[in-house]
Amino acid sequence: MNTYFIFDIDGVITDPMLKIPNPYIISFIANQLNNKHYVALETGRSLMWIGERILKLIQSQLEDINNLDYLFISCEKGSVTAIFVNGLIKTNVDTSVSIPQDIQDKIKQQIAGKKEIFFDPDKQTMVSVEIIGGTDPKQLEGQKEALSQFEIWVNENILPASPQLKIDKTPISVDIQYKEISKKTASKKFLEFLQNKNITNASFIAFGDTLPDIDIAEVIYENKFPITFVYVGETPLERQYPFQTISIKTNTYDKAVEEYLKTI
Ligand SMILES: [Mg+2]
Repeated sequence: MNTYFIFDIDGVITDPMLKIPNPYIISFIANQLNNKHYVALETGRSLMWIGERILKLIQSQLEDINNLDYLFISCEKGSVTAIFVNGLIKTNVDTSVSIPQDIQDKIKQQIAGKKEIFFDPDKQTMVSVEIIGGTDPKQLEGQKEALSQFEIWVNENILPASPQLKIDKTPISVDIQYKEISKKTASKKFLEFLQNKNITNASFIAFGDTLPDIDIAEVIYENKFPITFVYVGETPLERQYPFQTISIKTNTYDKAVEEYLKTI
C-alpha cells in the first residue's frame, strides 16, 4: 500500500514568521512526485502565493513536468483547487464562498496605512489580513498586537451583520471566511481527486501546526483510510483522536517536519 503525504504550508513547509520554504521538505515533495506518489498541499494560502513561493521550487526538481500530475493543491482551505493534466495547471474556484465586495472594501479601508499588517490581494474567496513577519522580536510583537486589534474590529464591525461569516485566526493571519469552509473541504476534494485516479487503497501522513489542521486528518479517517497526523504546533492538542497523532517538539515548525521526514 502506498503512503501519500498531505502538507499544510505555513508553519509546516515554512517557518511561520520567516515565510521561507524549507529546502529539505521541498526536495522531499519533488521526490515523491518523481516516484509517482501523490502529494497534497492543503493551505489557506492563495494559489498565486503558492505558485511563486512553492510550486516553482518543486517544479525545478522534477525529472519530468508530467510528474506534476501527482500533485493536488488546495488553496484558501479548499475553496480554490489546482490540479495538473500533462503538467498543465487546471484551477477551480468556488465563487459561492467569495466574501462580498462591500465587506472586502470595508476591511481594506480599515487596513489602509497600517505598517504592521496587510490585506492579501491574491485571495479569490476569503479575506486574509496578515502580519509582515520577520525576525525582530519587538517588531513581531507590534505586528501581532495590530493583528489582535484588527480581529477585535472585525468582531465588532463585520460579523454582527454577516452571521454567515467567521474568523479563523492563525499565528500570522486573521482569515474572514464563510462558516462552512474548513480544511475538511480540502481533504474531501483530495480524496475525490484520488478516486478519479482510481486510487482506492492508500495510507496517509498529514502535517499541521494549528488545531484546525486536524480537520485534514479527520476527513481521511472518516473515509476509512489509515492516517497519521503529525502535529508541530505550539498549542497542545486538545484531546485524543481516533487516528494516530504524533506531536513533535512544539515551536520548531518546519524543522520538526524535516526531522520527522528523515525518520521514515
Ligand atoms: Mg499552518
